[in-house]
Amino acid sequence: MQTIYTVYFVTAVLFILGLKRMAHPGTARSGIVWAGAAMALATIATFFYPNMHNYGLMILGIMIGSVVAWVSGKRVQMTAMPQMVAIYNGMGGGAAAAIAAVELSKGSIEGQGLIALSVFGGIIGSVAFSGSMIAFSKLQGIIGGRPIVFPAQKAANLIVFAIAVLAGLGVITDPSSSSMIVTFFVMSLIFGVMMTLPIGGADMPVVISLYNAFTGLAVGFEGLVMGNAAMIVAGTVVGAAGSMLTMLMAKAMNRSIGNVLFSNFGQLSDSGTDGIEGELKPIEAEDSAIMMGYAERVIIVPGYGMALAQAQHKVRELVDVLEARGVDVKFAIHPVAGRMPGHMNVLLAEAGIDYEKLYDMEDINDEFANTDVTVVMGANDVVNPAAKNNPSSPLYGMPILNVDESKNVIVIKRGQGTGFAGVENELFYQDNTRMLYGDAQSAVAKLVQTLKEM
Ligand code: NDP
Repeated sequence: MQTIYTVYFVTAVLFILGLKRMAHPGTARSGIVWAGAAMALATIATFFYPNMHNYGLMILGIMIGSVVAWVSGKRVQMTAMPQMVAIYNGMGGGAAAAIAAVELSKGSIEGQGLIALSVFGGIIGSVAFSGSMIAFSKLQGIIGGRPIVFPAQKAANLIVFAIAVLAGLGVITDPSSSSMIVTFFVMSLIFGVMMTLPIGGADMPVVISLYNAFTGLAVGFEGLVMGNAAMIVAGTVVGAAGSMLTMLMAKAMNRSIGNVLFSNFGQLSDSGTDGIEGELKPIEAEDSAIMMGYAERVIIVPGYGMALAQAQHKVRELVDVLEARGVDVKFAIHPVAGRMPGHMNVLLAEAGIDYEKLYDMEDINDEFANTDVTVVMGANDVVNPAAKNNPSSPLYGMPILNVDESKNVIVIKRGQGTGFAGVENELFYQDNTRMLYGDAQSAVAKLVQTLKEM
């Protein structure tokens, strides 16, 4: 047993070091490998646990899971990454809940304290599982991404939650009642579904991150019940990291978690162009290329549209031709640009763009005023000055990139579509802004071509 605990200790250290390495794009890949190796080690060590049986089933389960994960991991598009995270993370919550269900129905947990912990992990894991499945279905387009709302929904949710909690208390007081155990898990699963249905598809990344934290907590609780150190450490690390990520995302959007969970944000607002002065001034790719080619400093602001257009490789070519002309090129990365944390960093890294060129908002925001040309590439909300100066805007208070201070702005987008928040952007109407209409990939290709011919 001591050897197993030593291995678990090593895996705990590897988990933490792996997580630390994931904090920087340059070391993130190796961080994933370290944490993956730790997980493999913990899994192997578990085979040597005393009184283990069912080895055949365990190996079969691992084989099926590995093949499915390997194939889907290889095939998934970057834009579909949030739903992939949702489904795998939800499975973790489901596994924790399943452990609780099995142990409770076997009657093998001794002491009311441990039974209470198991029930606690059971409800959190069930909600994370069923909620994540709804999140996956929304993002995958299996059910519509719009909030699914019906009259007295909040009251209905509260009732389901109350029944789940009462059933949980019933399990703690009478652990031998299998009908109470079944009621508890069924109601917990239903609550996860009902809690997630009214949330709009666009808010799902925050919700997924929240469920990720839930999964960690559930695994940690069940680890305590089972006396399994690896589960306790892994669960705590995931729970803490997931909670911090959720809070950071909410902060970067200037919204509370409650607002994300209960407000149907991004689906209802449509402010029109009321109060915005000026007009949209189109520009051709050739003229944009000339502006950029003769600039000293260019900042590129990527957003969700760049991800949709899969324009990152063309952007890399753009950087190369501009730098060959002696232009200083930097990227300004907003913490919630795109639809998941680190979305832009991952795409730009995939295209081989040097990490040193990627600047966080707070590190680059003072530089826009000295920048000749800022290229907004499929970004919208994260550059909307209404966040700074329009108290009635849903974006008001969200920290944004100071693109409006740049000497010239070129906005690449397909048409007059709004961003995720559904509000118009006064930046596009500013005197120093020009609109380069088109799909980001083809627009950047034209820029590259013109620059090469210059
Ligand atoms: P937005 O969603 O605000 O805007 C994207 C813009 O891209 C649109 O205006 C659209 O205009 C344009 N676009 C779409 N497709 C293309 C294309 N093929 N080529 C060129 N342009 C295109 O993106 P941002 O990145 O600025 O903001 C992200 C938003 O998502 C924020 O509001 C943030 O709060 C939210 N969010 C972010 C999360 C995260 O973790 N990153 C999580 C949840 C929400 P048009 O249709 O005219 O082309």
